[in-house]
Amino acid sequence: MRRAGLVVWGAHDIVAAMIRPGVTTGEIDAAVEAFFVEQGAVPLFKGVPGKVPFPAVCCISVNDEVVHGIPGKRVLLPGDIVSVDTGCSLAGWCGDSARTHPIGEVAPAVQRLLDCTSGVLDLAISLMGKRSRWSDVATEMATFVRDQGFTVVENFVGHGIGRKMHEDPQVPNFCSPSFRRNYDFNLEPGLVIAVEPMVNMGSKRVRALSDHWTQSTVDGQPSAHYEHTIAITESGPEVLTRAPSPGEIVRVE
Ligand code: MG
Ligand code: MG
Repeated sequence: MRRAGLVVWGAHDIVAAMIRPGVTTGEIDAAVEAFFVEQGAVPLFKGVPGKVPFPAVCCISVNDEVVHGIPGKRVLLPGDIVSVDTGCSLAGWCGDSARTHPIGEVAPAVQRLLDCTSGVLDLAISLMGKRSRWSDVATEMATFVRDQGFTVVENFVGHGIGRKMHEDPQVPNFCSPSFRRNYDFNLEPGLVIAVEPMVNMGSKRVRALSDHWTQSTVDGQPSAHYEHTIAITESGPEVLTRAPSPGEIVRVE
């Protein structure tokens, strides 16, 4: 899973290097697809069944789009924020990760949204080494976001990951009495989960667009999304989709 995770990280590094005003979301997707081919990795998103099969290797969601945006002809503009989510399998094991990029200068409140969303993922990773139940991590995540005046999306959650991209358990970024009672799980060595907070500037509510995939905020306000695949080891949480030295493009033999 570490090797798959490093390929996903490498894909995100390619995205980070090319994302700028004037680039289309389709060009980003094509670059990631070419990288997966070069690495011998199998993209996990393309062909995912739905009313129409998902047509791309990345979900690319711009501004008020929360998740599951379809890459295409859309040209990125200064002030946009762009969430890129992608995953692959390598030798039968999966990795899944997402990041939101500011395009040029963004409004200060939008930058705070990005910092809050990456911050709440970092918080979750550190708490995974200190708490014994996911419900305690999720509760602190929701508090962290609420204290900054933003909202956690509740319609979509993280997931277990391994041989398949989506495995049990479900990994919400908030806690409810029903979750604590019925679905909570222990954080113990051997567990690997994809933690993926989606944070909205306004209402937490989302709606599907007519392309059957893209989810956007109901109020048109921006949304951010960060995700890592994280293993709990005997020595604590290990982020599988992050290279030991950030910024380096990873080539896996
Ligand atoms: Mg993902
Ligand atoms: Mg995921």
